[in-house]
Amino acid sequence: MRKQIVAGNWKMNKTFSEAEILITEIADALDEADLKNAEVVLCPPALYLEMTTDVAFESNFKVGAQNIYPEDSGAFTGEISPLMLKELNVSYCIVGHSERRKYFNESHEFLKRKVDSLLKNNISPIFCCGEVLPEREANRHFDVVKNQLEESLFHLPEEEFMKIVVAYEPVWAIGTGVTASKEQAQEMHSFIRGLISSKYDTTTADETTILYGGSCNGKNAAELFSQPDVDGGLIGGASLKAEEFLQIATSF
Ligand code: PEP
Repeated sequence: MRKQIVAGNWKMNKTFSEAEILITEIADALDEADLKNAEVVLCPPALYLEMTTDVAFESNFKVGAQNIYPEDSGAFTGEISPLMLKELNVSYCIVGHSERRKYFNESHEFLKRKVDSLLKNNISPIFCCGEVLPEREANRHFDVVKNQLEESLFHLPEEEFMKIVVAYEPVWAIGTGVTASKEQAQEMHSFIRGLISSKYDTTTADETTILYGGSCNGKNAAELFSQPDVDGGLIGGASLKAEEFLQIATSF
């Protein structure tokens, strides 16, 4: 049975003291929440990872980073390595978010290196894929997502691929308030599972968690998560409010 996950991507939001309050609010709410089998993951800015893992140690959530540089150490001023995260008990790291692809020009090849260096340090990549609006309008969205997976993930042997979480995030839905319909999400998730099945096998495909991301909120999460191939969400804006985030996390 594959994992259901709700991961909050805080992006570059919250001051230290605001983050402390939000983490505590979420941890307290999780103590009372009925998550069924779902796992909650918080991905705060790197500066707050240690504080977050400290709280997570006593609570019911896992911690993810938003980014790494794909080397264990070295002369890479300003960067953070997966080896550093490993010692902090960080379990996940977002890779291939559309904001990093767009603003930091991250290539398929660079994302592949990030995936490899995370896996080497036992951290599961949450690998984001998804098309921009003109690509969907030109009916190229399946090809775009296929290419993203092939170029940065499909070099992995099966036992390593099993540690990947895929997040389908149509770029036109991220931070826009426009959510993919449940049919659009299901169609792409089923396509992704089919690709994994063709590349590896049906067991690997059935065991892979595929999240939806893009303006997912307390109102639409239950409908999206009810789709057979949608195993949870990667949540941006709505993960910054404890009550709404908890509503999403309990939407299965
Ligand atoms: C995201 O950035 O991964 C995301 C899904 O953002 P939002 O939920 O705000 O659309």
